[in-house]
Amino acid sequence: MSEKKILLLGGGHAHALVLKILSDQGHSLKHVTLVSDSNRSPYSGMLTGYIAGLYTEDEIHLDIERFTRSVGATFVCAAAQSVDFERNEVAVRGNNPIKFDILSINTGGTPSTKSILGADEFAVAVKPIGHFQKKFTEFLKNASTKTRPIRIIQVGGGVAGIECAMAFAGRCRRLNLESDVTLIEARSQLLPDAASWTRHHVERTLSKSGVQVMTSLKVVQISKDLVTLESGESLAADFISVSTPVTTPEWVKNLGLRHSGEFIEIDNTLQTSVRNVFAAGDVAKNGFQPLPRSGVYAVRQARTLATNLVLAAKTANGSAPPTYAKFRPQKEHLKLIMDGNGHAIATRGLLLWPNSKLMWKLKDRIDRNFLRQFQKN
Ligand SMILES: Cc1cc2nc3c(=O)[nH]c(=O)nc-3n(C[C@H](O)[C@H](O)[C@H](O)COP(=O)(O)OP(=O)(O)OC[C@H]3O[C@@H](n4cnc5c(N)ncnc54)[C@H](O)[C@@H]3O)c2cc1C
Repeated sequence: MSEKKILLLGGGHAHALVLKILSDQGHSLKHVTLVSDSNRSPYSGMLTGYIAGLYTEDEIHLDIERFTRSVGATFVCAAAQSVDFERNEVAVRGNNPIKFDILSINTGGTPSTKSILGADEFAVAVKPIGHFQKKFTEFLKNASTKTRPIRIIQVGGGVAGIECAMAFAGRCRRLNLESDVTLIEARSQLLPDAASWTRHHVERTLSKSGVQVMTSLKVVQISKDLVTLESGESLAADFISVSTPVTTPEWVKNLGLRHSGEFIEIDNTLQTSVRNVFAAGDVAKNGFQPLPRSGVYAVRQARTLATNLVLAAKTANGSAPPTYAKFRPQKEHLKLIMDGNGHAIATRGLLLWPNSKLMWKLKDRIDRNFLRQFQKN
């Protein structure tokens, strides 16, 4: 590659794979720097398995610092705070600003809690995962002292919320702790975009796992050990987890890049509104190609991003932009929903493979293989 400085902001799925792809293609990565607020990147596909007690903390992490260094790139452990597009530098907490010629942003998203009063203080959002893990581990330490069933409420009934609820129930079972796990969803049904047979199967699996599902209920406030609904009714809980739709943090919203809703706007070449600035994964959105916030797409974007970063690096300053590669997402992809008990449901479009050990083995293999590719170097 050229002498141009490429700065990868965030150690998400897309950037980890970009490093791998460029290294496998034989590029020298000495002008590439990856900045992440943590030296280990959690792999969210395995988080619910961790909650359920099926994986250890080490098993669900990618050592992004070690991997970055192993491919010859520079790693900086710091949280980005802002970007100066005039000076081409990123301000990071506790470090000098970092210069770039080409920037790529892959810093993920967090559940939006702005419509729920007190959620930031009294509930635990499933992301950032590191914070969630810490809070959940603390909770489990004290849980065994309770003399009544532990009450856990999961707010948000998307796929992540569904998996989390079953994982909580599974973990309590594994620890011989009596529990009441409730999943609260604002919409009138779970998975409204899924085929009706898939939805019913997921609902039955939740019920068999011991999760009580409550739909058409909007949570408006969370206080200590209490979830308050729009109707005024309150539900008591010992642990409240939030998995509402993903948004981006304030510093991303204030970057000055054009936005699509709450996300950085990108085109189908993953470029933002500023030349030589790219974005991928949950932090970015293409208004003409809206995709669910899913790790699958962050992973798939990596190849296009790697190609375009190389093209941008090879283009001389002042010359016309090159013809960038386009990202073409597939319409459907396989979704695997684990039940916290060593089984999983698989679905793709209208197809459904009911809850089974075999599908869990498939999910486990896919997830472990994903992480394994970063352990080889
Ligand atoms: C419980 C749960 C289960 C899920 N299961 C699945 C699944 O099975 N399959 C699937 O496809 N999707 C799943 N998802 C969705 C998936 O987590 C996201 O779509 C995916 O993680 C997005 O990847 P990303 O590369 O955009 O960013 P992320 O994986 O979120 O990574 C962002 C990285 O940037 C770093 N970072 C953040 N802020 C800063 C900053 N200021 N400065 C520097 N670094 C920063 C973070 O530390 C992190 O390493 C799940 C989500 C949850 C919550």
